[in-house]
Amino acid sequence: MICTRSIKKAVFAALGMAFFASAANSQMPGTVPQPIAQTSAPALDTSRLAREATGWLAELIKINTTNPPGNEEQAAKYLAGILGKEGIKAELLPLVPGRSALVARLNASAFPDPSKAILLVAHMDVVGVERSRWTVDPFGALPKDGYIYGRGAVDDKGMLAANLAAFIALKRANARLNRDVIFLATASEEGAGDASIRAVIAKYWDKIAAKYSINEGGNVFVANGKVQYVAVQASEKVSLNVTVKANGTSGHASIPLKDNAVFHLAAAVEKIGNFTAPVHLTTIVRRYFEGLAALEDNEIGKWMRSLDTGDRGDHAARVVADANPMWNAMMRDTISPTMLTAGVRPNVIPSEASATLNIRLLPGNTITALLAELNKVVNDPQVKLDVQPDGGLAAPDSSLESEFYAAITKAAAEEFAGAPVLPFQSTWATDSAQLRLHNVQAYGLVPFPLTQEDIKRMHGDDERISAAAFAKGVSLMVRLTNEFATSH
Ligand SMILES: [Zn+2]
Repeated sequence: MICTRSIKKAVFAALGMAFFASAANSQMPGTVPQPIAQTSAPALDTSRLAREATGWLAELIKINTTNPPGNEEQAAKYLAGILGKEGIKAELLPLVPGRSALVARLNASAFPDPSKAILLVAHMDVVGVERSRWTVDPFGALPKDGYIYGRGAVDDKGMLAANLAAFIALKRANARLNRDVIFLATASEEGAGDASIRAVIAKYWDKIAAKYSINEGGNVFVANGKVQYVAVQASEKVSLNVTVKANGTSGHASIPLKDNAVFHLAAAVEKIGNFTAPVHLTTIVRRYFEGLAALEDNEIGKWMRSLDTGDRGDHAARVVADANPMWNAMMRDTISPTMLTAGVRPNVIPSEASATLNIRLLPGNTITALLAELNKVVNDPQVKLDVQPDGGLAAPDSSLESEFYAAITKAAAEEFAGAPVLPFQSTWATDSAQLRLHNVQAYGLVPFPLTQEDIKRMHGDDERISAAAFAKGVSLMVRLTNEFATSH
């Protein structure tokens, strides 16, 4: 049997990385004494690899994969080229013309073994930009003030490049794997449809089947210049769209009508705006607040600890929900009106007006139950609510007791100087729900320490990642994949 620590040393040595182990267990007979780090956690130097990966990130940003149309095949070919140079055969997985996913694997033995395998997932497509609001070229990957600017710098080309670095590091080190490691770059995460992970699973499941996965979804939250906590996504809310349609009599705008569809739609939307779904704490959200209570100031921490205590709990939920819109959204079904449509001309009363509601359900809650509530609230025979097709599916939670969750917790705590690691239920949807529906224990963690300011720019203007944060993320992914893939 091989000592995993000696493998790790070999891995890091071969990578040209410094690896400092704790005094208690670093000394193998006959080895040269190693420098001793200050903490018990092993430190490793992946700075050279991170610089190389920064170049890959910049090239990926320059390939415009705005979805729609996506055009991910170009990014997939670029990745295949990088992997090819490392002697890794990558495979394009065609989905629709111009859009492919990409898969590559390092196997532990002659035959693939999904029962232990780990899948590194990131998506290649990005959301669009409002070019006039950017101060730099969104596809220029401009380095400025210690940051790299560009659409996708964080979401999700940053993680794509970090995953690639961790994957290539294993190959370069010729690491003795005890699990297959699969690198997967997905398409159309920002848009679903025929090029999404759903299609990859339907067509190519045998190429990506794994027991565990890591993907975007959770975050390393920075406050006051240090990592406050690491949130590992193990569950996510379910996204659905509902159309609210009001009908009325059309006519000449010079003769107002009481049944004007616009009045009825506006009234319905207002009533929906005043509706608040009840609080329900899922297991993961309860665990999240338990952990967070210890980190927040006494006042809010006290209310977080009281969330589950009968009448006092109701008041506590109000205080916590009011303190932070994300906390509110983690505790209940939510509704955001996002689109309004009415009218053809300024002087014509339209016969129809409609709104789109984006609804995020807690896993386990049903849209039928929520719609019944909303219909009661709206209570207007001129207004109808209909669920749009292609809504998200509720997936089971990933286990908080799995060996991979433990490995993520350990690696993150080591990387971020003992920062607490909390389980997280994201309010946003990710590709991981589809994986969870296929019995993959899927976890979400964008590995970069990000400030609120950086997080706000995802999907916004002037998206950027600091070179230092990117390097930390690369280091975390190298640490995690190496430790877990070489473990038994
Ligand atoms: Zn994303």
